[in-house]
Amino acid sequence: MMKTIMVALIGVCVALNSFAALPANQMVRVRLGNYSLQMKQIQSQEMDLAGVNLKSKEVDLLVTPQQVDWLKAHGFNIVSLTSSRAMSGPDSRYQNPAKVESALKQYAAAFPTIARVASIGKSLEGRDIWAIRITKDVAKEDPTKPHVFFNSMHHAREVMTSEVGLDIVDTLLNQYGKDPQITHWLDAYVVDVVPMFNVDGNNLVWTSDSMWRKNARGGYGVDINRNYPYAWNSCHGSGSSHSAQDFHGDSAGSEVETQVMMNFVSSIRPVFSISYHSYSEIVIYPFGCAGQHTPTKDVVEKIGKELASKLVSDDGHGTYTAGTAPELLYSVDGGDIDWLYGVAQVIPYVIEVNSSSQGFQPSYSKWRDKTITGQRAGWKYLLNRMDGSSIFGQVTNGNGLGVEAAKLHIRSTNSSFAQDYTVNPKGFFNVILNPGQYEVSVQAAGFQAQKSLVTVGDTRVKTDLNLKTARN
Ligand SMILES: [Zn+2]
Repeated sequence: MMKTIMVALIGVCVALNSFAALPANQMVRVRLGNYSLQMKQIQSQEMDLAGVNLKSKEVDLLVTPQQVDWLKAHGFNIVSLTSSRAMSGPDSRYQNPAKVESALKQYAAAFPTIARVASIGKSLEGRDIWAIRITKDVAKEDPTKPHVFFNSMHHAREVMTSEVGLDIVDTLLNQYGKDPQITHWLDAYVVDVVPMFNVDGNNLVWTSDSMWRKNARGGYGVDINRNYPYAWNSCHGSGSSHSAQDFHGDSAGSEVETQVMMNFVSSIRPVFSISYHSYSEIVIYPFGCAGQHTPTKDVVEKIGKELASKLVSDDGHGTYTAGTAPELLYSVDGGDIDWLYGVAQVIPYVIEVNSSSQGFQPSYSKWRDKTITGQRAGWKYLLNRMDGSSIFGQVTNGNGLGVEAAKLHIRSTNSSFAQDYTVNPKGFFNVILNPGQYEVSVQAAGFQAQKSLVTVGDTRVKTDLNLKTARN
């Protein structure tokens, strides 16, 4: 008798728990007739956008039964509805925080001269966030070498992204000294990879909710990728309630994970970055608010479109699509790429890997190898672009020492293109440009302003700038 009651009570607890952890327990696919208008409606209802299929104009949403009713009442064309029970959760072969840590440490041990692993900080729950640095003579700090940065899994449930991050590491390390292109990149540049950024969230994916997206803040979670302090909460591009899947946090940059990422990026000052997400087969570049484009969009958008054209869709037909978030989805504020561009001078991209046929947690045996292999064309394109049109060098004083905080103004002599750029510590800079002729002006406190003309072709141009002390 006693035993029966106990079992019944446990049953109730489990049911209540899973209900609390899964407020949005149905995956609904809707086909949009008026894409931009209906996307705005979806966003205004704080629905959890899982992914899109731009070809069919179909959008996947994780929703509550009440939200399904809302969609029906507002005339949305529901293509399919799947209950949470049918969403089985990820294959156990996908990564978790412990597996990523051990894999990175094994790589560093196996390739000690070109790989070094370090924790870049701790998550809210005290887990280490691991990064690996890959370059020739990794023990030697060389400020002349520019960095390229790849990170995966701002969002916990996007499990394929860590596979991509680890494959970048695996490919670079195993091909160094064998593949001439990879050997050259690692001789000339530094590659930093964070294969699993949202470690607390990923832990929740394995322990309580396979559709968990945010960090572990307060049981409700903050969307780290709406928490960055650049135009934070500025254009209805994030959620204000704790329950929203894109909750932006209580204040700009409030989350420890956000701060860890900002500190790390500020320390390496990468030229390019890719943040891997899933899914939708798109490449996103800044800015996230509708109608806003970067001042250097001639460069940012051209490279973004070329990057997308290298990535073949899962169905083998066509390639990824590139655009800003409002062009492809809807406005996003507090995302990492806006901060990376707007504050850290990085040219940053988001890649949403896999299609809506694969979803967040594709069959490992069917899609893991296929996806990571397909993504190589993207990150290799970006490393190859490091060798392309650009200027690099050092701003120095009369004694040949680097000038801190010098400001460059780079202006095209035959178009309206202009860019402001603050040099890295010790005066180093690396600015990606389109081919053309540029006037490069340099200003630094205590020095005479200086102008030079530089012609940029298809390769990087060394452009050292020596400043004279200002006369009083
Ligand atoms: Zn994501």
